[in-house]
Amino acid sequence: MFALLDANNFYVSCEKCFQPALRDKPVVVLSANDGCAIARSEEAKALGIKMGEPYFKFKHLELTHGLVTRSACFPLYADLSSRLMSIASGMGCDVEQYSIDEQFIDLSGVREITRRAWVIRDRIHRGLGIACGVGIGPTKTLAKFANHIAKASERRPGSYPARLQRVCNLAELSPQELAAALEATPVGEIWGVGPRISAQLYDAGILNALQLSKLDLGTVRRHWSVVMERTVRELNGEPCLTLESQPEPKQMIACTRSFGSPVSELDPLIEAVSDFASRAAQKLRLQGSVAGQIQVFAHTSRFRPPPHFHRSIVVPLIRPTADTGLIVASAVHGIKRIYREGFELKKAGVILMDLNDKADLQHELDLGDEICDRGSLFAAVDKLNQRYGRGTVHIGSTGLQTNRAPWQQRQDQRSPRYSTVLAEIPEVKC
Ligand SMILES: [Mg+2]
Repeated sequence: MFALLDANNFYVSCEKCFQPALRDKPVVVLSANDGCAIARSEEAKALGIKMGEPYFKFKHLELTHGLVTRSACFPLYADLSSRLMSIASGMGCDVEQYSIDEQFIDLSGVREITRRAWVIRDRIHRGLGIACGVGIGPTKTLAKFANHIAKASERRPGSYPARLQRVCNLAELSPQELAAALEATPVGEIWGVGPRISAQLYDAGILNALQLSKLDLGTVRRHWSVVMERTVRELNGEPCLTLESQPEPKQMIACTRSFGSPVSELDPLIEAVSDFASRAAQKLRLQGSVAGQIQVFAHTSRFRPPPHFHRSIVVPLIRPTADTGLIVASAVHGIKRIYREGFELKKAGVILMDLNDKADLQHELDLGDEICDRGSLFAAVDKLNQRYGRGTVHIGSTGLQTNRAPWQQRQDQRSPRYSTVLAEIPEVKC
């Protein structure tokens, strides 16, 4: 058996847990540069705000309906996520973190599963003030489906039996009840069925999950793929997917950002690219890899009138490396090559490619080039930045960042990083 635990409206819940005054208010968390809605409280959903809706379209609700908006505060969400995951892992023997607020749990050997799920859910609610839904089923796809029921039956009373709210264990349903729940669920809600496949299924007259589960496996494989075939098997209770406790190392590491304000000069662009390359290099070291090539790009906004600019370049590294200095130097070299005057650039990014395990690195004969291994230098830099905050020690070309540079992201309404920065710890007055 598997469980899937998923926090409700996670980013908004993180904001609410440190600001109890927001408890029953409509709250929306905004994406980078306060662009669009990326999390909504139930009250905000009730106002009709859609996921991904641009901020300017619903900003007026702040005045008319007391809507509260927050810029995304990822250090806060990441910290609360790790606390949530560590409490949730008390439910079973093995876990897979699926996203920032979702965890699959292997329930092998766990007794009184439903009761245990309630205990863990309450523990998270008491400890962090964050509400979760727990779905339990014999396969990962069915655990996801059960989680959908646990949440949907709470949000939309009457959509599924009320006793399945918050914690839904499919093992407690009769075969008729399970069939009815599958029939009440549109195919697009099933894990692994994206919008494109969902549209194809609709065209073929397959509207709900029960119809999907009854499809002939050979037909599914021929018309769609073995991945879809696995989904159908899993819907019928046949486990095809196991927990991925150790995520595979990434094949590419990217750091790309939209700028807070347009950038047209080379100097701030070099600062931005140096900063993105430094962030990417740190992630590279974290997974123990080295990069062989770097792609750098910059472009104008496609929503603005011309002239438009969209260029990228791939810079090969002389030797595969995870050295921030070498990676930044190559990224700066690349951006200088593609830069042209006279464009209002909106976004840039650095992508590290051709990644390999550091342990597999082939050493070469010393042919006169000075090969300087600064691995321990950057291990020390990473430690300092981890302890004293990101950017405490950084490459000079990222600029001094004493004032907000135009390329840095706008976050006008960001909450304090209550749990990760000592100076921003909550104050309690009595
Ligand atoms: Mg969630």
